[in-house]
Amino acid sequence: MESQRYAGGVLGGAFSGSAAALLLRREAPDLSVLVVEKGARFDAKVGEATTEMSAMFLTRRLALWEHLEREHLPKEGLRYWFTNERVRHHGDASETGGFLRSTVPSFQLRRDVLDEHLLGLAAGAGAEVWRPARAVDCDLGEEGGEHRVTVETGEGRREVRCRFLLDATGRATFLAKRLGLVERLDEHATSSWWCRWRGVRHLDDLAAREHPELAAGNVGSRRLATNHYPGYGFWVWVIPLGNGETSIGVVFDRRLVDLDRRGEPRRAYREFLLAHPLLAELLAGAEMREEDFRGYSRLAYLSRQFAGPGWALLGDAAAFLDPYYSPGLDHAAFTVEASVELVQAAARGEAMGERIALHNETFVRSYRRFFDAVYRDKYLYMGEHDLLSAAFLIETAQYYLFVVIPAFRVHRRFHWMPVLGPREAFFNYRLMRLANRRLGRIALARRAAGEAGRRNDGRRVRAFFSLGGAPLRMAARGMGLWIRAEVDLWRLRLTGRR
Ligand SMILES: Cc1cc2nc3c(=O)[nH]c(=O)nc-3n(C[C@H](O)[C@H](O)[C@H](O)COP(=O)(O)OP(=O)(O)OC[C@H]3O[C@@H](n4cnc5c(N)ncnc54)[C@H](O)[C@@H]3O)c2cc1C
Repeated sequence: MESQRYAGGVLGGAFSGSAAALLLRREAPDLSVLVVEKGARFDAKVGEATTEMSAMFLTRRLALWEHLEREHLPKEGLRYWFTNERVRHHGDASETGGFLRSTVPSFQLRRDVLDEHLLGLAAGAGAEVWRPARAVDCDLGEEGGEHRVTVETGEGRREVRCRFLLDATGRATFLAKRLGLVERLDEHATSSWWCRWRGVRHLDDLAAREHPELAAGNVGSRRLATNHYPGYGFWVWVIPLGNGETSIGVVFDRRLVDLDRRGEPRRAYREFLLAHPLLAELLAGAEMREEDFRGYSRLAYLSRQFAGPGWALLGDAAAFLDPYYSPGLDHAAFTVEASVELVQAAARGEAMGERIALHNETFVRSYRRFFDAVYRDKYLYMGEHDLLSAAFLIETAQYYLFVVIPAFRVHRRFHWMPVLGPREAFFNYRLMRLANRRLGRIALARRAAGEAGRRNDGRRVRAFFSLGGAPLRMAARGMGLWIRAEVDLWRLRLTGRR
């Protein structure tokens, strides 16, 4: 088989692959780059809500402001709605979320449109694109040598040789699987189902017409937030999209919710949503796009190594943890940025051993800490307004204080360091881990005492997404909610209810 030679081979041409190819072509134009993408066109997919950091990557690093403003929606932070037996509609529910507009840009994306645009930009910058074409085999070369990849195209099999191989094949984990590096995180037993809907009621108009007190209690748009509808063992996202459709997904812990054992998934998903009083209010008259229904039964996995001599894993090809807080594109952006730096350093002939070791150590540490501090057993307390709000405020404040504010105010650029990656983030890690464990215990004690969800109606916690002193206020409010919940746990103990 005749081989074609490139400096860089990128497998997978969606967000991670296209972004890497684009940055390489813009910043190292003497490196030839090939992108191999399996799909003839991109499907709508999950990965729609950005965070402040993935938005910084899109706007400042990839320079996509115009595209984002034209094709996508601005995002107004995170919002949570809770229910108990007293809640009939949004006006009764306990709510937590931004009060004013968010001052840091972020977006609600249509991923098919974004990925198509990015791949077009990479091609326009000089990357060669083979599509539809599927990497089917590969043989990693010696250090400093060439890798060989076999690609299936419409015209048969072709061989590619490249010095740098970037795997961005998403959950297919093409390279990590071949290298035997993938670990499933069985302790995090989450699954997800989702679908796009048409005709979902506009939350702010609904409030203005039917719940004037609710409407009066907010300045920014509620609809443009990622709206969460959490309960014991699950949460539902509602994300508005630029084409008027709404993405609605449920993520559940299989140890706590038996949604995957309730018969045909599409029907079970629909019935689950419509049984929720607030979602039923929002979905009255809406149409589920049945053909768009998708799901994953096991969400979390990790590659034990993210890079080696002349190769690196990007985005979901390296790891995925949990969609709560939308960290997927953050992680993808950090891996792309770090890997592009590795390729450029290697191309300049720098010694790579220590850099690769630091890369692996940092990303694997970030993943394990993030799981342990934020996600482990979180689904135990998802149904408690004060407890989930405490965690949300404490965790979001940490993200702002130690990641977002330094990026915008100190470095003033997007930096590759993943959340909780630095060794020095030890204190933040321990604090969040302690909070998460205690909140889980308190939730279980309330359930045992028959007091679950008691605070889920008529309460309001405000959040502020800004680069000023607001994160300190959020941290203080979150700590206050946590301390009050600890004191209340003593009430349960002293009255013998727990
Ligand atoms: C339920 C759920 C909800 C989520 N919500 C969010 C969210 O709101 N916000 C967020 O930031 N993230 C979210 N994520 C995560 C997000 O979807 C991913 O992190 C993101 O899509 C990763 O992009 P990627 O380019 O790395 O991989 P993908 O988008 O999966 O792209 C991989 C590409 O590789 C191609 N490919 C695969 N195999 C081959 C092969 N052998 N040869 C050639 N090409 C190949 C595929 O066709 C595809 O185009 C969510 C994830 C889940 C599971």
